[in-house]
Amino acid sequence: MAKVVVTRKIPGNGIKLLQDGGFEVVVSPQDRALERSELLNFIQGADGVLGQLYEKVDEEYLNAAGSQLKIVANFAVGTDNFDLPSLLSHNVIGTNTPDVLTETVAEHTFALLMAISRRIVEAHKLALTEVSTFGPEVLLGIELKGKVLGVLGLGRIGSRVAEIGKAFGMNVTYYDIKQNADFETKVGASFRATPEDLLKEADVVSIHVPLLDSTKHLINSERLKLMKPTTYLINTSRGPVIDENALVEALKNGTIKGAALDVGETEPKWAPGLIDLPNVVLTPHIASATLEARSAMGELAAKNIIAVLSGQLPLTPVKQQ
Ligand code: NAD
Repeated sequence: MAKVVVTRKIPGNGIKLLQDGGFEVVVSPQDRALERSELLNFIQGADGVLGQLYEKVDEEYLNAAGSQLKIVANFAVGTDNFDLPSLLSHNVIGTNTPDVLTETVAEHTFALLMAISRRIVEAHKLALTEVSTFGPEVLLGIELKGKVLGVLGLGRIGSRVAEIGKAFGMNVTYYDIKQNADFETKVGASFRATPEDLLKEADVVSIHVPLLDSTKHLINSERLKLMKPTTYLINTSRGPVIDENALVEALKNGTIKGAALDVGETEPKWAPGLIDLPNVVLTPHIASATLEARSAMGELAAKNIIAVLSGQLPLTPVKQQ
């Protein structure tokens, strides 16, 4: 009987699907990230792994699992934890969970945008003091209607964020390595040929690129300086896309107005000084955390494992870059 290990308990029917598929299913009893040594021990002898985005799948991992391993199904759409050449050389298929979390992540992007632009966290803290009520200049924010939303990376999530932005009455611009003329016509978004062109004019910059060598520190000190002092920066992609130390400086100096981040460069820690600033809103990598999305992610990961261990093609394989 083929063995599937699940490195952390997940919501929804994913585990039941695997059990019904006739596999031996072993779920980590720990409701936390496994230490590296625990993980390497846990995956030993598995034919399939349903794993988490904070688990680096590299030579060491693949050797520890053993040569019978056929699939690692990431419980995430991002696959920057995969060493793709190693997966290829070990003949192991990697899969991810595209589409099923798009709506949830786009909604969280707007939760962050509304929180920072209407100063919801500051307002909540002030309300708890029971000393402040209506005041003409208390906690002024900005209206989104008519503002320029600059989307960096117009893939599945970036496109949905752009659509929601349009529903708010925002003027949407985007930068992507691929121009999407159909989307421009359908939604009314305008392409910008470089990140610089986008950054100079956007009132809100929202990041939706994958973490690759080419996107690491896409937002750095030089590019932050191009942004307007009234601009908000939102990141629900991956932390290292922003040089977080440079961002702290930009927020302290008033180079930009504020930032709302779901992801950090060295999770769960933030760059020194970031958490002391009033003009940030932070969430601990929860952009896909709805019951709907997380259940669907587990089910899709399970279906990928069932397909591969039954000799069929995976539903959502990760392509070698
Ligand atoms: P996607 O592949 O559909 O979209 C990514 C887009 O980025 C593509 O259009 C691609 O052409 C573009 N791109 C790639 N390199 C670029 C570059 N150098 N400059 C500009 N654009 C570039 O992916 P998606 O499903 O929209 O997800 C996007 C990312 O969001 C994921 O890779 C993941 O890291 C992140 N994510 C985070 C969470 C979270 O919990 N915070 C949840 C889901 C996804």
